[in-house]
Amino acid sequence: MRLISSIEAVRRETLLMALERKRVGFVPTMGSLHDGHRSLIERAVKDNHFVIASIFVNPLQFGDGEDLDSYPRSIKKDKQIAEKAGVDILFVPEVKDMYPSEITTKVVVSKLSQLWEGASREGHFDGVSTVVTKLFGIVGPCTAYFGEKDFQQLQIIRQMVVDLNLPVKVVGAPTVREADSLAMSSRNIYLSSEERLAAPILRVALDEGLNLVRLGERDPLVVMALMKQIVESEPLAVLDYVAAVNAHNLQIPKMLHAEIRLLVAALIGKTRLLDNDGLTLTE
Ligand code: AMP
Repeated sequence: MRLISSIEAVRRETLLMALERKRVGFVPTMGSLHDGHRSLIERAVKDNHFVIASIFVNPLQFGDGEDLDSYPRSIKKDKQIAEKAGVDILFVPEVKDMYPSEITTKVVVSKLSQLWEGASREGHFDGVSTVVTKLFGIVGPCTAYFGEKDFQQLQIIRQMVVDLNLPVKVVGAPTVREADSLAMSSRNIYLSSEERLAAPILRVALDEGLNLVRLGERDPLVVMALMKQIVESEPLAVLDYVAAVNAHNLQIPKMLHAEIRLLVAALIGKTRLLDNDGLTLTE
């Protein structure tokens, strides 16, 4: 595995790959790698001739008062994990190279990016879609792997790739969880031991919501009320939102049908956690 920080050097490599007609897999991350990231890399290794993973804590997607400065960074451990998982190039650009001057072009995926996470974190998804467009511009034609853990982000990237005709195939991969079902996240290390015990309440709310749908409930508001009640039963949790939505446009439908997704976000102590799960209704 080679560690490369130069944008031009990565471009040269991917141009060579294209000339040799090699399939390139790309896994963008913010580092502090865990088994969720590892699963994306392993999938990319399985599907492609050559795999690039990037680590870039993107200032553009953090709002004022968010954790940009304290975001966990562990490049030494990340290198080991990436190499073991089969990454060929670990691309770790510097902020000064990604944003040499104030950025004047932004990519905004309207509608989808205003909802849920977008409503709670203003400008967040504009930062995400802009940096992912830049990374796609650097890496070039590839298959890019994103986690369903950040389901809204995944749908936004899918929409962006279609809207802008980007030469990228987007693959979504399932959420990897801890033994007690908490979705793995780089931010989980912020949780105190007491908070860590409370955190799986998000998954409980999703499970109970999905069960209610499986039992025949089709009113999204009833499902959301149950999920809300469950999260609020945990004294350490402060609910941000629950939603039962159409998996494509992420809007709450009148009646649940076809592909649906349940979303939940809550503060556990000072740590904001999110989770989601879905199913396909056939009748
Ligand atoms: P991040 O480093 O948090 O920006 O995440 C980089 C990529 O890893 C994104 O596509 C995330 O959705 C994905 N990811 C993060 N956590 C998980 C998880 N627990 N399971 C699967 N994918 C994940």
